[in-house]
Amino acid sequence: MNEKRIPVKVVKVVWPCEACGKGEMEYVKGNSHLTITPFREHKCNVCGHTDDARNKIYPRIEYERVDESPAFQKPPKKLYLSIFTDRYNDVYVRVFDTPEKAISYAKKLAKDYAMRPEDIQETMCCGRWLYNCVFSPEGYSVRVEESELVNE
Ligand SMILES: [Zn+2]
Repeated sequence: MNEKRIPVKVVKVVWPCEACGKGEMEYVKGNSHLTITPFREHKCNVCGHTDDARNKIYPRIEYERVDESPAFQKPPKKLYLSIFTDRYNDVYVRVFDTPEKAISYAKKLAKDYAMRPEDIQETMCCGRWLYNCVFSPEGYSVRVEESELVNE
């Protein structure tokens, strides 16, 4: 026999009193009219107004399924950081939502800042680095790193 666990949300279903608007209608036990469709007598817990609910009992507890779609679960969102480091090791970070945007920004940055085109040296990437480029002899560099936004 297979068991499956399904996350549910517990909700209380109430019938607000239509007379006073403050109370909740509560089922009066034993006062159902004997018709084909049972009408169940309810009484407001504030003003005492009575009304019938067709075949329903208030308040009641219901279980609702929790949406398990990926969008609902909010998986960690990937971020792409363009990290510019200057000769003093000061770091400037810009965040992008796609690697393409981050790399194209980094390439433009290297091109704009390099004194001479031959100073631009794209180097091997390792690990989380998607792009790495040193673009001046003094050590200015830019690299692109993948990161994750953690939802608390
Ligand atoms: Zn009421």
